[in-house]
Amino acid sequence: SVPDPAAGQAVRAADRAHVFHSWSAQGLIEPLPVAGGEGSYFWDYDGNRYLDFSSQLVNTNIGHQHPKVVAAIQEQAARMCTMAPGFAVDVRAEAARLVAERTPGDLDKIFWTNGGAEAVENAVRMAKLHTGRPKVMSTYRSYHGHTAAAIHITGEPRRWANDTGAAGAVHFFGPHLYRSHFYAETQEQESARALAHLEQTIAYEGPGTIAAVILETVPGTAGVLVPPPGYLAGVREICDRYGIVFILDEVMAGFGRTGAWFAADHFGVTPDLITFAKGVNSGYVPLGGVAISAEIAATFDQRPYPGGLTYSGHPLACGSAVATINAMAEEGIVANAAQIGENVIGPALREIADRHPSVGEVRGMGVFWALDLVRDEETREPLVPYNATGAANAPMAEFAAACKRGGLWPFVNMNRTHVVPPCTISEAEVKEGLAVLDEALGAADAHTTA
Ligand code: PLP
Repeated sequence: SVPDPAAGQAVRAADRAHVFHSWSAQGLIEPLPVAGGEGSYFWDYDGNRYLDFSSQLVNTNIGHQHPKVVAAIQEQAARMCTMAPGFAVDVRAEAARLVAERTPGDLDKIFWTNGGAEAVENAVRMAKLHTGRPKVMSTYRSYHGHTAAAIHITGEPRRWANDTGAAGAVHFFGPHLYRSHFYAETQEQESARALAHLEQTIAYEGPGTIAAVILETVPGTAGVLVPPPGYLAGVREICDRYGIVFILDEVMAGFGRTGAWFAADHFGVTPDLITFAKGVNSGYVPLGGVAISAEIAATFDQRPYPGGLTYSGHPLACGSAVATINAMAEEGIVANAAQIGENVIGPALREIADRHPSVGEVRGMGVFWALDLVRDEETREPLVPYNATGAANAPMAEFAAACKRGGLWPFVNMNRTHVVPPCTISEAEVKEGLAVLDEALGAADAHTTA
């Protein structure tokens, strides 16, 4: 693409005049005008190209502009752009079949939504109607989306400003050995004590009041917190004991991100409901959904499900999901994510950590990794305070700016950077990106006590 700074300026001006951006003080942001993208890269109008180590919002699992998916969207648009959710439509049914085939257990019915938050909203609604109970339990260090139920069960600061009527959301601590709340020294202790803490919380809330426990299989935005052995199986067992619906939120972790179709596959657990979005079609057209167990689906066999969306199972979105899932299967994209994580990203990040006093912990799997940045490796004090803004966040802002100067688009959240490239990324691209990351970490090292 030929640089065109004047066109970039025009996009910037129109954006500033008329687009109201998410999660932002509108006067304090400078959105980068983007001209295009392909594969693992996107570029601006000034001739700068960025290797996308954030997969946008951790959703472009097959990279930008995958030719088979672009072609499928074009064909579907020519054939049938839209059709109301009450009709049986070929691509809607085929996409549901392809998802159901990949979900664990008997989660064989799909309710389609436009994205992740709506999937969470509907999963919570199904659990409450199925059990007749009012409350939902979720962890601190979680993000489940920004609609009413989804933001109330979210366990991080984006909830705070929305906490106006949060009845029914109960939070507890999930396992996180590096910053253990349970004085644990091993993964086994962390797992056992986190399960005991969950069970105690259920006892004090009243087991008969709890409709669901919802967990991100691998909490994503909260820091790629891979659960310790036995934890998810233990939650499954506790839910069964108290008749609680177990929901796994795989909006970020699903469709290849962890090197499996669903992250639940790594842990041998079958929840009652799975929420998904993002990677199901890499976000080429908005799409999400809930995969529903036979038992919960049966609740709504004779009784109407009181929920729906004009665009539920949108043909253009479902057509793109069919093409995405087929392309991922044909091209071994999930296997690529698994092997590149295990053989390239993981080992390289551990080497980088050894060189940098700012890297406290490396954790992850597949193309789903986090570096926990610290001021002091001994005390594990985070490089910036929890939810820091402005001057307090300067060390992370300097690190991110250094990445961008080097042509790398990083994912940054609080004191962490996540390495979350597309599942299609090549070894050469990983090495190119990690070389930039390695150098940029110098900016973080400068703020350590080392
Ligand atoms: N659940 C999880 C685990 C997520 O990571 C996200 C978004 O990042 C959501 C739900 C919300 O999805 P959406 O932004 O598509 O509504």
